[in-house]
Amino acid sequence: MGRMTASPGRRVLLAAPRGYCAGVDRAVIAVEKALEQYGAPIYVRHEIVHNKYVVQTLEKKGAIFVEQTEEVPPGNIVMFSAHGVAPTVHEEAQRGRLATIDATCPLVTKVHKEAVRYAKDDYDILLIGHEGHEEVIGTSGEAPEHIQLVDGPEDVAKVEVRDPSKVVWLSQTTLSVDETMETVDALKTKFPGLVSPPSDDICYATQNRQLAVKQMGAEAELVIVVGSRNSSNSVRLVEVAKLAGSREAYLVDFAGEIDESWLEGVTTVGVTSGASVPEVLVEEVLQWLSERGYGDVELVKAAEESITFSLPKELRRDLRDEAAALMAERGGSGASEA
Ligand code: SF4
Repeated sequence: MGRMTASPGRRVLLAAPRGYCAGVDRAVIAVEKALEQYGAPIYVRHEIVHNKYVVQTLEKKGAIFVEQTEEVPPGNIVMFSAHGVAPTVHEEAQRGRLATIDATCPLVTKVHKEAVRYAKDDYDILLIGHEGHEEVIGTSGEAPEHIQLVDGPEDVAKVEVRDPSKVVWLSQTTLSVDETMETVDALKTKFPGLVSPPSDDICYATQNRQLAVKQMGAEAELVIVVGSRNSSNSVRLVEVAKLAGSREAYLVDFAGEIDESWLEGVTTVGVTSGASVPEVLVEEVLQWLSERGYGDVELVKAAEESITFSLPKELRRDLRDEAAALMAERGGSGASEA
């Protein structure tokens, strides 16, 4: 335990809620449970959640992370990450004789279902999101011929639709609420008949974490966001902090990445973490700050969260047996058809 000090005036504003959301919690527990139940290896397509520490910890326990389904040897178990996958990925797994566990967050699944429904009704779907993000690739894959991506307000000019009276917007779950509304306003100006999604696509966890950061941004000269660079909701927290008035805001994976020089002339430091970040990493940051005189911690509470999701139902089945049966059924010798 290091030295804990509080220098007069210096303080930390700690965001609440921060860190793990219900979808991340469920996905991480699903990998742990699968390892416990079926033994290693459990293959996971893409990072189960966008956090280095979580991925490394699960790797040590026997999870193997792959980029593509084809990398998984036939007769194994593969888990799909919280960000969701396109239907073609389920087909790839079937062709590759893999038993699957789908850890897609139910709030992402909700957006997939909206996409399928509007596509069935022959709408043009404008999906607001970041190009190349796994969630956007998964959602687009539900109805590729109906969906076009709108990556921010500057993208609106190039959007063209077949029938302006039959257009709906949907969004990625982890966007900046304010920036998304800017994009929606621009889209509405262009297409006055634009239909909105039946309920918020930006999830409760993303919204609440942004709300807390907004509240601290006006007082904190520096905001430290714990999160990985490929974590969309964490990167958004940095942007929101700056817009809310914080002089500087930085994203760090670990306390070790904080630069002492950031503290120059800073009295109040805001601390928060993205939805894929375990609390232990935040505790390390608080410890690091306390050793430098920022020992007083004040909670900035923006919302209460009590939502939880039940584990993927596949975990109730004997997936090793299923994978073996898939191999036997097709006279598998270990060669992949995919
Ligand atoms: S950030 Fe939101 S959509 Fe993503 S896993 Fe968490 S609860 Fe689900």
